[in-house]
Amino acid sequence: MHRVNDATEELRKRVFEYANTRLNYDPPPLDNTETAENLFQAAGQTITDAGLGSKALDLFANVLAPATISTDHPGYLSFIPCAPTEASKLFDLVVSASGIYGGSWMEGAGAVFAENQVLAWLAKEAGLPETAGGIFVQGGTLGNLSALVAARDHARRQGKTANRWKIACSAEAHSSLKTAAMVMDVELIKVPADEQGKLSAAALRETLSDNTDGLFAIVATGGTTNFGIVDRLDEVAQVAKELGVWFHVDGAYGLAGMLSHYTRPLFKGLEHADSFIVDPHKWLFAPFDACALVYRDPEIGRLAHTQHGEYLDTLTNSGEFNPSDYAINLTRRPRGLPLWFSLATHGVDAYREAVTKNIEIAHYASQQVRMRDYLELVREPELSVVVFERKGWTLEQYEEWSKRLLAENIAFVVPSSHHGRPNARFAIVNPLTSVELIDEILDTME
Ligand SMILES: *Cc1c(COP(=O)(O)O)cnc(C)c1O
Repeated sequence: MHRVNDATEELRKRVFEYANTRLNYDPPPLDNTETAENLFQAAGQTITDAGLGSKALDLFANVLAPATISTDHPGYLSFIPCAPTEASKLFDLVVSASGIYGGSWMEGAGAVFAENQVLAWLAKEAGLPETAGGIFVQGGTLGNLSALVAARDHARRQGKTANRWKIACSAEAHSSLKTAAMVMDVELIKVPADEQGKLSAAALRETLSDNTDGLFAIVATGGTTNFGIVDRLDEVAQVAKELGVWFHVDGAYGLAGMLSHYTRPLFKGLEHADSFIVDPHKWLFAPFDACALVYRDPEIGRLAHTQHGEYLDTLTNSGEFNPSDYAINLTRRPRGLPLWFSLATHGVDAYREAVTKNIEIAHYASQQVRMRDYLELVREPELSVVVFERKGWTLEQYEEWSKRLLAENIAFVVPSSHHGRPNARFAIVNPLTSVELIDEILDTME
């Protein structure tokens, strides 16, 4: 029988201790960034012929981790933070400790079953039929690309042809759509957003008027990354239907807003989506990295994405549900399991409450911005992103302020900009981000 040797046992003990230390942080240290030169000075060459043995963990804990910002600190408000529940973090450890494979039903039935229940729950919340389904992929970029590849494949299978395939989206849409269009070698038509920052039927009709030849998909954003603004999904759905093209909703960040009674009405029309994505690592309190990709008709995704090969035939021909067949990937970690475990443990109500609380904090922040005469709100928040200016500040002043906040372990808020004007932006997805912390940060800008 195989037995772990003493060195392995010691390593296991130390790694669990270290993981435990990190889990016990309340809050975790924000830590900071570092240059490669300084890191090399401190860490040296870490890949050696003989191996560093137990020193490798010390090196990570003492040198590398402090040079790596904790995205789950309640003051991390830049970009889109990641604030996993303890249950989801713990289960990520379990997934790693178990040699389980998430690509096929044959190998991963139990894991795939659990992932599929999460996808079915998301589909139901979105208003899609029970037959909807999909896969957890690495991130929203890959989710959008996989959905759009399926959409074009479907158009081709329906006999449509084009000199130039085209996708339409809002000018405010995420950069990953440009990437998808580039990879697919298709044209991306950017439609101007209305005065509220939303993609509307009127703007779509005007921009597309005589440019619908080759159009196979319209993408609406369910919560822009910059402002958290939700496009007019019902209007976009209507135009897509009229034109007979695929309707995809990119909800990587914002779709979780459908869980709160405050913001659920913004998602009217989502039920018409042919596909949508939402990233658990953004606003569904799960660790990096996961994107739920859901198709109204998963068979369209399967036809587009199944890989064929002699060694795979036994899986492909099984008639079973193999997650790998629904996106651009093959080998896959069952990365939906941390979210599954946390949802199964805490229940859906806890998620509704957490999302709702983030929205309340965002509204508190926008009120505070309005009340302080040295600050100015750029746009009314719709979900949990608050964008505002410090009157009179140059970009350099924002940058100095941002560095100071990080150095003092208060918060991580990098400057953003709108129409060329620098601003500050809070993306609030961490249930531990408090009104006191919002006040503290705003006070530092006076
Ligand atoms: C973050 C984001 C993406 C990209 O998702 P990744 O997981 O970073 O690849 C796409 N669309 C929107 C709206 C996003 O916020």
